[in-house]
Amino acid sequence: MTAETLCVGTEILLGNIINTNAAYLATQYAKLGIASYYQTVVGDNAQRIRECVSQALGRSDLLVVSGGLGPTQDDITKEVVAELLGRKLNVDETSAKRIKLYFDRRGKKMSSNNIRQALIPEDARIIDNNNGLAPGVLINLSAKEAAQFGKSADNAPMILLLPGPPEELTAMWEAEVAGILQKYTGQVIYSAMVKICGRAESEVAELLDDLIRSEGDVSVAPYAKTGEVHVRVTARAEDEKDAKKLVKPVIKEIKNRLGDSVFTTHEETSLEQSVVELLLANGLTVTTAESCTGGLIAGRLINVPGVSEIFKSGYITYSNKAKRKIIGVKRKSLEKYGAVSAQVVREMAEGVAAYTKSDVAVAVSGIAGPDGGTAEKPVGLVYIAVSVCGQVTVKDYHFSGNRAKVRESSVASALILMRQCILEYYSRLTFGDNENE
Ligand code: ATP
Ligand code: MG
Repeated sequence: MTAETLCVGTEILLGNIINTNAAYLATQYAKLGIASYYQTVVGDNAQRIRECVSQALGRSDLLVVSGGLGPTQDDITKEVVAELLGRKLNVDETSAKRIKLYFDRRGKKMSSNNIRQALIPEDARIIDNNNGLAPGVLINLSAKEAAQFGKSADNAPMILLLPGPPEELTAMWEAEVAGILQKYTGQVIYSAMVKICGRAESEVAELLDDLIRSEGDVSVAPYAKTGEVHVRVTARAEDEKDAKKLVKPVIKEIKNRLGDSVFTTHEETSLEQSVVELLLANGLTVTTAESCTGGLIAGRLINVPGVSEIFKSGYITYSNKAKRKIIGVKRKSLEKYGAVSAQVVREMAEGVAAYTKSDVAVAVSGIAGPDGGTAEKPVGLVYIAVSVCGQVTVKDYHFSGNRAKVRESSVASALILMRQCILEYYSRLTFGDNENE
């Protein structure tokens, strides 16, 4: 089965709203094992909507239209579709009553336009809308209608009309539409995510080359994010249990090949969450001392619920004076090496760790640009130091991109270095223990 999405709304064309419905629907098709080759956006214009609907019905089994079911004059989706198919629009009494009740409860008078929302093309199935007034509509095309779009009776297409507001569309999909479509596809797609940090996308792609190229039941696809590579592992099967069975050994293999670089196999777990979990698991408190990242590292860590148990404080020591007075960087080091230097970030990390009595401290200093770079210290040069129970690691990075990108890359690298240093600290301890045995 193939599905395509048509989003109606001049606002989307103008870029005033972001087309989140198309993205949502795409993920839902995939979950159901429905292939999708087209997404279209069209303005609130009858002629152009008609053209888009006709074209889609000629090439896909299911057309999902989002938007234009409201009461205003620019909401014309249903009228255009009904006219194109030659179906009458009738008032659905249940929907009309619901709309009237809505206005009565609020002591408002219903305008004649609102009743348009209760108009349903004849012989269509109504999809209830529990979050708004406009019901959805599912139409199975008859043999005659299908012929109009070059389709035979056996593969007559369907049209599903859903309201534009995302909270209405998603709720209707989950409550009713997914169940209806599952019956047509008889297949599910299950996918899991392996998240990797501290390795370039090209390196991950090389290590997983055979899995990525494989054309078996399971597909493996990497996506690059700042500082991270996400690898999606997807399988198609008759039910979720079978699909999971196919995915499991592939995830295990990826973990074997990438080792500690895999920070989670849970879709919803973020890098900062995995760092916070590591700190919590080892009972380590943490403090940040930030210059060019201006609090973003602390911000990412504090995104994570439960961090209060281990996060002590976050310093933004932007000026040299703040670095000296607040976190104890030596004046001599600032003069000799400059604020952006390995020596100064080391002192920043050591300084905050000692001052706040934190087990872990992370410090960053860099040149985010666009000004301030020199031949010796170009824009994008960033030093990060991490102290774990007194053992300090300092690394230099050379990022590209604008100011925002350099700062974002610095934050991701700081989180990754924290994770690496903590893991190494404990692996050294374990190694030491074994030697003593
Ligand atoms: P309403 O009854 O609210 O008018 P509607 O079905 O007529 O609903 P539209 O008028 O097309 O839908 O859109 C209503 C609102 O829903 C838009 O202003 C926008 O906020 C949101 N919306 C519409 N289409 C999309 C989309 N494709 N992605 C995300 N949001 C959307
Ligand atoms: Mg509208």
